[in-house]
Amino acid sequence: MNPPTFEYFAPTGIDEVIDILAKYPGEAKILAGGQSILPLLKSRISSIPYLVSLSEIKGMSYVVEGKDGVKIGSMTIDSDLENSDLIEKRFPILHDATKQLADPLVRNVGTIGGNLSHADPANDLPAVMISLGARFTIRGKKGSREVEARDFFMDTFTTALEPDEILTEVYIPFWGRNSGGAYVKFKKNTWNFSVAAVAVQLELDGNTCKKAQIATTAVSPKSGRVESAEKHLVGKPLTDDVIKKAAEEVAASAEPVTDSYGSEEYKREILKRITREAIKKAISRAGGN
Ligand SMILES: Cc1cc2nc3c(=O)[nH]c(=O)nc-3n(C[C@H](O)[C@H](O)[C@H](O)COP(=O)(O)OP(=O)(O)OC[C@H]3O[C@@H](n4cnc5c(N)ncnc54)[C@H](O)[C@@H]3O)c2cc1C
Repeated sequence: MNPPTFEYFAPTGIDEVIDILAKYPGEAKILAGGQSILPLLKSRISSIPYLVSLSEIKGMSYVVEGKDGVKIGSMTIDSDLENSDLIEKRFPILHDATKQLADPLVRNVGTIGGNLSHADPANDLPAVMISLGARFTIRGKKGSREVEARDFFMDTFTTALEPDEILTEVYIPFWGRNSGGAYVKFKKNTWNFSVAAVAVQLELDGNTCKKAQIATTAVSPKSGRVESAEKHLVGKPLTDDVIKKAAEEVAASAEPVTDSYGSEEYKREILKRITREAIKKAISRAGGN
């Protein structure tokens, strides 16, 4: 199906993007890789009168290592993250997610900024960013501001972005020396969204858990921290029993719904299994036993 008609803008600067968004509040939307917004338009689920493409703006795609973390431009495509040695070495949890995200065709055009701004609870990158404690730089008419990943996702398809704002950069801080993370995704075929997925990032002191941040994908209206499960890990030696209890808490506190991917009960069982797997993988990557 063809999309409803829209006016198309291709500005060459971020200020111009903000001006157009502010001129048509709520009616103008950013077009990044188009992998979420175009299917919505083509299926006529949405009608957007003004589309503002970011494709002509230079310098929005980069992965740069700093002293305390890594900066990622919001137009960086998923496959650039997947193929980045820096990301694989520093944030294997993000490498896990990008290599399983959709298929190579989608990854070659879909952007990190679009994946996060779309705020689909089934998208993989929100949970990863929340577990890593990432911060997002947002620009709008009132200037620039930073938002923690955990505060960015407000509800299904709803973020902290105001109508005139654009997400320009993602910053992921380095964790301590004995840290590691893993993203485990359960899906029914190679190209699809998750039935359920979990992101676990840990810091260890010996075999004791010093810090833990856990977030889920596709089992709640929005991705968010599962602090009740993190509490089962922090300050404790990571025995099988401790890991099992944390995994049970992740499953219990989720809000999965029965759909074509499976029943609510089935998804809770999957969550228990993949959370145990993710915690064990994170421990191993953090240098624990
Ligand atoms: C077949 C298929 C399978 C998929 N499977 C998965 C999957 O398994 N896992 C997964 O995570 N995703 C999956 N996706 C979604 C995909 O990752 C999209 O690329 C992503 O959700 C949106 O990124 P985009 O750059 O294409 O954004 P667009 O589609 O261009 O934009 C999406 C939304 O974000 C807004 N936006 C975009 N960039 C910005 C910005 N910088 N600032 C503010 N707002 C912005 C747009 O206005 C729009 O509302 C799949 C998509 C398809 C078509």
